[in-house]
Amino acid sequence: MNKPLALKEVIADTVFLAKRLRSETSGEVMTDAASRGRYATDASIYQTMPLAVFVPKTAQDIVSAIQIAADLGVPVLPRGGGTSQCGQTTGPALVIDNTKYFRNILDVNLEQGYVDVQPGIVLDHLNAALKKHQLWYPVDVSTAAQATIGGMAGNNSCGSRSIAYGNMVHNVLGIDAWLADGQVASFGLMKEAQGKALQLGQFVQSLAHLHQAEIEEKWPKVMRRVAGYNLDIFNNQSERPYTQDGQVNLAHLLVGAEGSLAYYKQLRLKLSPLPKHKTLGVVNFTSFYEAMDSAQHIVKLLPSAVELVDRTMIDLSRNNPAFKSVIETALIDVNGKTPEAILLVEFSGEELAPLEKKVKDLVSLMADLGHPNCVVEMIHAETQKNLWEVRKAGLNIMMSLKGDGKPVSFIEDCAVPLESLAEYTQGLTEVFSKYGSRGTWYAHASVGTLHVRPILDMRRDGAQKMRAIAEEAAALVKRYKGAFSGEHGDGICRGEWIQWQFGPKLTEALGEIKHAFDPNNLFNPGKIIHPPKMDDASLFRFPPTYQVIPLKTSLDWSSWDVQNNPVTEETTAPGSGGDPAGGFAKAVEMCNNNGHCRKFDAGTMCPSYRVTRDEKHLTRGRANTLRLALSNQLGQEALFSDEVKEVFDLCVSCKGCKRECPTGVDMAKMKIEYLSHYKKKHGWTLRDQLIAALPRYAHTIAAIPGLAFLFNLRNHVAPLAYLVEKLTGISAKRSLPTWRRDTVWRSQLGCSEEALLASSKPVVLWADTFNGCFETENIQAAVRVLEASGYSVHIPRKANGHYCCGRTYLASGMVDRAKESIAELLTTFTRFTDKNIPIIGLEPSCILTLRDELLVMNFGPSAQKLAAGSQTFEEFLVSEAQAGRFIPKLKSCEKQILLHGHCHQKSFDAVKPIIALLKMIPNAQPQLIESSCCGMAGSFGYESEHHAVSLQMAELQLLPAIRQAPDAIVLADGSSCRHQIKDGAKREALHVARILEMHLQ
Ligand SMILES: Cc1cc2nc3c(=O)[nH]c(=O)nc-3n(C[C@H](O)[C@H](O)[C@H](O)COP(=O)(O)OP(=O)(O)OC[C@H]3O[C@@H](n4cnc5c(N)ncnc54)[C@H](O)[C@@H]3O)c2cc1C
Ligand code: SF4
Ligand code: SF4
Repeated sequence: MNKPLALKEVIADTVFLAKRLRSETSGEVMTDAASRGRYATDASIYQTMPLAVFVPKTAQDIVSAIQIAADLGVPVLPRGGGTSQCGQTTGPALVIDNTKYFRNILDVNLEQGYVDVQPGIVLDHLNAALKKHQLWYPVDVSTAAQATIGGMAGNNSCGSRSIAYGNMVHNVLGIDAWLADGQVASFGLMKEAQGKALQLGQFVQSLAHLHQAEIEEKWPKVMRRVAGYNLDIFNNQSERPYTQDGQVNLAHLLVGAEGSLAYYKQLRLKLSPLPKHKTLGVVNFTSFYEAMDSAQHIVKLLPSAVELVDRTMIDLSRNNPAFKSVIETALIDVNGKTPEAILLVEFSGEELAPLEKKVKDLVSLMADLGHPNCVVEMIHAETQKNLWEVRKAGLNIMMSLKGDGKPVSFIEDCAVPLESLAEYTQGLTEVFSKYGSRGTWYAHASVGTLHVRPILDMRRDGAQKMRAIAEEAAALVKRYKGAFSGEHGDGICRGEWIQWQFGPKLTEALGEIKHAFDPNNLFNPGKIIHPPKMDDASLFRFPPTYQVIPLKTSLDWSSWDVQNNPVTEETTAPGSGGDPAGGFAKAVEMCNNNGHCRKFDAGTMCPSYRVTRDEKHLTRGRANTLRLALSNQLGQEALFSDEVKEVFDLCVSCKGCKRECPTGVDMAKMKIEYLSHYKKKHGWTLRDQLIAALPRYAHTIAAIPGLAFLFNLRNHVAPLAYLVEKLTGISAKRSLPTWRRDTVWRSQLGCSEEALLASSKPVVLWADTFNGCFETENIQAAVRVLEASGYSVHIPRKANGHYCCGRTYLASGMVDRAKESIAELLTTFTRFTDKNIPIIGLEPSCILTLRDELLVMNFGPSAQKLAAGSQTFEEFLVSEAQAGRFIPKLKSCEKQILLHGHCHQKSFDAVKPIIALLKMIPNAQPQLIESSCCGMAGSFGYESEHHAVSLQMAELQLLPAIRQAPDAIVLADGSSCRHQIKDGAKREALHVARILEMHLQ
């Protein structure tokens, strides 16, 4: 086999590499800068351009790729979700992404309690499949929705419940892996090993024997040690043995190897029974130190988790209206003072009664320790779940700090013995303040692994501070006999600490293991063995040389253009952050690559990824592409290139990311900004213009007799539809909304402005383009419902038209036109908001534009007032009902109601009011369909090139759920959602206003 090539030579060979991969495999090969850039980072501070990216379709593709790379001396880097925090998945290599095709469950063996899986399967997907057997794979990492089993094994990941179940290494029974020569070896119990696996096992065993004394002296004894290779499998040093019966399992050599020894083909995992019951005791502390000191005693009660939430997190949650009530269920304020820390102590098992007793034992224990009356007992599953959710969300708020200073992960998982936890955390807190920073502490108190991230600015003095803090933290870890790398692996930021932890002899022994497995340094070089310096700025995502191109933005991004104070976390005034792109670049840089947008389970984010499983069509992929373009890393004028345009092609502007991304990356807004520049340069298509200007010409079509009829012919005469598709790109496979003459504005619906102003129950019902032109029944229904409860309803009209939010212009980046339209609306609506008259709307995307995009168009205080005064129909009625002003007389509901929330409703947490409103109907039991975007997304689903993918999005959950309930009433407030449901499931969905109207007595 050839020796690895120097980097320059390797680059020259990339072309040949790609050529061979394309001709000898069936996988997807990517060599363009944007694609490589999307695989250059993970959730760490590092970035290195890979040489190429390969997405294999078959196992044979991977074998071929390994062999081709070996032939050419190109390094190979296997990758899962890319959520590593230490730079494990960054490197100048052929990056191979297992997540798209290599993600199957191969065998579930219930008798022997194991499952065989491919490495690209995501933990949550595996556990969802195991649930029916009442089993689970219990290494419950916080990234369970996106982390893959291969990546988890690569990092020897650990979950919140590791005190009960152990780390990844304790739950892997076997691994079949490709070695550097492309041959497969089976790693399992040593006594059963054969061939190359046995040979390698025996070699490592001889090394272990040779270094036994050194291992015993240097190896940390804590369970949470994940650094280096597991040389101690022959003579376990951890407080938790590798195997229950003491047998040596050679697969454990590969766990935690970070892809640097072999490439996992399939993994055998040990399954655990799903606990039937859980109880929770929340212990409140008046001092952080006491909380830390108590953990060592609490674990003696054998909890399944002990998780810390510190004062900063408590305050963050308490100050957030969405979480306040939940966090307060866990708090005991002594003399009006908020606790300094809480520990969430969970017990789980088969029977409830013993678990309830455990909580009582906790109460007694705390009293014995001098902390009486400090435990909140939570027995009900729902209350527990809500609290866990808040803990998770608190972390998200912390991560969404704006400005260049970011909470940096590099010492966030040092593990120390529990008896030293209090002193260790106190010592580290002092270190932070010495370097002008501060840490927020959270997570796994049960195993002495607390997460903490000081805020550092890597573009300025962050690297120096990082090293200084790491060195002092290391000294503390050594003093307390802990492990420097206790959960997230070594990667780049901890690689150099392996030698510090184990000493030169053992480091050399680890190097020998690498050489025996991978003599030519093919697999993920520079990880674990010969790592670079953690503060090598050439490996940073934001090195001091990082520069953003100047850009005059169309929207106002100044609230992102700030800097922060690392101690108080206060941010400077909007616009003061020094971003040459007016804050747009800083908004894009909010993506920290945690990969949560790869989740599939609940919520909306990210529909285009859910149907394609392509990094390119993922929120993270889009943010990375934009970041690289805005910082000139994709070449001159990259913003106007096809590579960047492509990543937005399938973004349906659902705003799922705005709400669900932990750092609030709002790709829908970014798409508007991006399109405004791209289209200005390349021009708007006929289709763009037809769709954007629809609110303007809609009235003409309604006003001139015969025109509506003529336009509707397209829906009935197939050749016409075909011709329209050829001319405009609007799909012939779709029916278009039906034009009609009896638009809302041509009717007498509602009262005059004078009557409105004179009324004691005034409300402005804003008729948007879609409901006003095409589905007037919805507006009529809303008026009837409101009038039946005594409201005076006014519908604003203007000569030859109506007031429009500019949504259709925004969708194609015509920001100036949108501003004109919305300015006119604002002037008129200000007359009503000045008098505190509520503005309500039926079309979620239109009314919510007034709460969203309107605020980044520089319209000043009147826009703020309109945003505050605008509500959806159902939000208004629910708040009126709560105030005792809306008491409708409704008859009983005889049918099941299935509800599909519009993405923008979900994004603004505005689905709950629909349910609350429906529950006012006697006997109604609305059921929410757990759906992502319907796929229609305004005009997206009408576009010929998007028709198929649009239906795929709908087929993920929405359409099957509707088909399964043939007699149910289907509710969808969005016009395009209703259209998709009609096209895809042949069912008529109704706006909530119509359902309410149907039930008026
Ligand atoms: C917000 C956040 C929270 C986190 N919480 C936790 C937590 O609770 N517990 C925890 O342990 N970690 C946590 N992590 C770290 C990370 O999510 C986990 O380590 C996760 O298991 C990595 O999975 P992945 O699929 O993203 O792996 P990747 O990052 O893609 O890869 C991880 C390593 O595995 C190697 N690898 C991947 N596939 C293979 C293969 N087929 N063969 C050989 N090697 C392979 C890679 O080369 C790499 O070295 C967190 C990270 C973030 C951003
Ligand atoms: S877009 Fe948001 S969810 Fe996705 S990786 Fe970036 S920060 Fe995480
Ligand atoms: S707006 Fe929707 S489709 Fe676009 S990136 Fe965000 S979640 Fe994905």
